[in-house]
Amino acid sequence: MSTPSDQELLAYADELLPVEASAAIEQNLREEAALRQRLDQLLQARDQGNLSIGDEWRLHRLSCPSLTELGLFLVRANPPQLDEYIAFHVQTVGCVFCLAQLEEMQASLAADPDDAARQQRRETLYASSAGLLKRRAE
Ligand SMILES: [Zn+2]
Repeated sequence: MSTPSDQELLAYADELLPVEASAAIEQNLREEAALRQRLDQLLQARDQGNLSIGDEWRLHRLSCPSLTELGLFLVRANPPQLDEYIAFHVQTVGCVFCLAQLEEMQASLAADPDDAARQQRRETLYASSAGLLKRRAE
């Protein structure tokens, strides 16, 4: 792998890179003291406000689908081409922002209070009709 760019080094430091790219840079850093120094300087420069994490985020997110599109992707409700793009973006590019977002959405889908309430109602209904049947059989 060639020497990583400043952007890549910062993305690495923020754990924004896909696993493979991150591992490659880690290897580089282990072997090259000069690179470690450059990363240190970059982080210091950024801490002093030259490059905010917000700037980085926006730069990286330009190619990201919207939250709505991500949500629809979970239930495969986008036009097929868009779902394909998102699958590529998340699985092949390994965009950590979208992955994190999808995980969060999945978790909140699973813990949807409406669902819990619906489940509860179903159980209550079942219990009461089971009770009815039982009484009728007696
Ligand atoms: Zn993304």
